Amino acid sequence: SEPVLKVENLKKYFPIKRGLVDVLKGKPERHVKAVDGLTFEIGKQEVFALVGESGCGKSTTGKLVMKLLEPTDGKIYLEGKDVTELKSKEEVREYRRRVQMIFQDPFSSMNPRFRIYDVLEEPLLIHGIGETRAEREELIYKALEMVKIIPPEDYVGRFPHMLSGGQRQRVAIARALILNPTFIVADEPVSMLDVSIRAEVLELMKDLKEKMGVTYLYITHDLSTARYFADYIAVMYLGRIVEMGPAHVVIDNPIHPYTRALLAAVPEPIPERREIIKELPIKGEVPNAANVPAGCRFHPRCIYMEKGLCDTKHPQLIEYEHNHWVECWLAGKI
Ligand code: SF4
Ligand code: MG
Repeated sequence: SEPVLKVENLKKYFPIKRGLVDVLKGKPERHVKAVDGLTFEIGKQEVFALVGESGCGKSTTGKLVMKLLEPTDGKIYLEGKDVTELKSKEEVREYRRRVQMIFQDPFSSMNPRFRIYDVLEEPLLIHGIGETRAEREELIYKALEMVKIIPPEDYVGRFPHMLSGGQRQRVAIARALILNPTFIVADEPVSMLDVSIRAEVLELMKDLKEKMGVTYLYITHDLSTARYFADYIAVMYLGRIVEMGPAHVVIDNPIHPYTRALLAAVPEPIPERREIIKELPIKGEVPNAANVPAGCRFHPRCIYMEKGLCDTKHPQLIEYEHNHWVECWLAGKI
C-alpha cells in the first residue's frame, strides 16, 4: 500500500551570516547543512523513529514535515500529495489539521492562562470543528477520556501548572488528536518526563495509534525508547541517515559504527548486544554542522576509519540486506 509519508532527497541548508570583512574579501557564502539528502517512507499506522544526538537534524526534519520550514530541496508527500506544492491558505490550513505535533515541553506549548478546556477548544475554533459549544464540549471530554484524564469534568477547569508533567503531556496528546489527524510528529515527547512515567505515555501513544489510525514520526535521542515504541528506526548523523531498518534489526544487528556507539551509550545495555558494544568507545563530540567533515562525516570519531577512503570519499546509503540500509564503506566488514 501507499506510504502515508514519503520523503525524497530532502535538504535544508541555513546560510551562515558573513561578517562585513568576509563580504568585502569576497568570501563565499557558507551554509549549515542541517538536513542533507534524506529519503524514507512511513507506512500507515507505523511509528518511524529518527534517532541521533542533538544537532544531527532530527528536529529540522520534523519542522520540514510540519511545514514550519520550507526545504532547500527535495520533496515531502502526504498520502501521495506533494506538500511543498500546498500554497493556498485553505490547503495549508487543512494540512495543519492533518499533521499535528507533540513537543518535548507541553508547558511551553500551552498558554498558561488557558484552562484545560480552552487549551483543547482552541484548535477546534481555529479549524471550525464543532458548530455549537455543546458539540465542542463533547469532543473535548472525549479527547480527555481517550488520554485517561478522567473524569474530564475534574480537569477542564484547571490550569496547565496544576497538572503533573505526565498529565500535561497527555493533554498535549489530546490536543493533537482532537483534530483527528493523519500524521503526528512527536519531538522528544517523553524526554522531559520522569523515567517512571515515560513508558506509560508511550504506551498511551501506541494505543491511540491503533484506535485513531494515526502514523507517527518519533524524534528522539534515546534508542531505548525508540526500540520500545518504533517499528522503524533511522539513525541520523550530521544531516544524513546513516542506518535505517526495522527497529529490531537495527537494534539486534547494528552495522554502522555510530549506531553501535549509540547503543553502547544506552544505560541498560541490551544483554545480547554486550559483545559488540564493549568494543565501541565513541571519540569526541558531534562536529559543528557548518564544518561537515570530508568523506564519511563520522570519520573523525570512528575507530574503524580507513585512511584514503573514509576521510576522502562520501559513502552512500545502500541496502545492506533486505530493508536494512547502511551508509558506511566498511558495512559488513567490521
Ligand atoms: Fe567509519 Fe569509514 Fe564507515 Fe565512516 S565509512 S563509519 S569512517 S568505517
Ligand atoms: Mg531537537
